[in-house]
Amino acid sequence: MTAAALPGMQLAPILFASATLVSTGFGGLAAVRFRDRLHLLLGFSSGAVLAVALFDILPEIFELPGGASYMPLAGLGFLAFFGLERYTAMHRAREHEHALTAHEQELGALSAAGLTFHSFLDGIAIGAGFQSSMQVGVLIALGIIAHDLSDGLNTVTVMLAHGNSVGRARLWLILDMIAPVLGACATLLVPLSGVLPWMLAFFAGSFLYIGASDLLPEAKEHDSPLVAVAMAVGMLVIFLTSRMLQMV
Ligand SMILES: [Zn+2]
Repeated sequence: MTAAALPGMQLAPILFASATLVSTGFGGLAAVRFRDRLHLLLGFSSGAVLAVALFDILPEIFELPGGASYMPLAGLGFLAFFGLERYTAMHRAREHEHALTAHEQELGALSAAGLTFHSFLDGIAIGAGFQSSMQVGVLIALGIIAHDLSDGLNTVTVMLAHGNSVGRARLWLILDMIAPVLGACATLLVPLSGVLPWMLAFFAGSFLYIGASDLLPEAKEHDSPLVAVAMAVGMLVIFLTSRMLQMV
């Protein structure tokens, strides 16, 4: 049974990481077309990503012996994603659409590279989740599929705002779409067992950052009271999914 189930378990992270291809791509296309109508979707993503950290990854870590001792890595994950976001200047890019020199265009590409690296880490998080258990893997994947919409959106926005052509923006979008699949594949080559709780704590911290400080401010830009409702729905969907997966 276990031998037969093994190939399926190995394929699962790659299949789920491939689903992020669709959401990243949709986010990239949406960046061009419906930029002003995405706040509810971003609110939903924010709730979903926060819920994966709060209702699934963190409880999972605390059930391990000495679970609290892994929490410094959660702090590090939060800080690391803050640093990555500052470095890639995702949000600042939208503010200045003038003085588009060649240097400016390179800065856009550098930001897109940072986002692509982040998406590679998304894939590693999915792989690490599945090495922990099927339930953690599925929930981490759902959280990432929900927020990758904003990864695709940011990749295209950051490129266009820095004066790059639509063609170059599309190229980086494709790289950003493939990155999670490569990350998930990488985890199949390396057994993570010893470092797994540390990695889960790191990604719990990064999910808290992405949900509260990356997605939520974007959703709030629109000043609609429905953003909070969308966020609560995102949380509820993940909470219920997590309870359902515990029962099977
Ligand atoms: Zn991401």
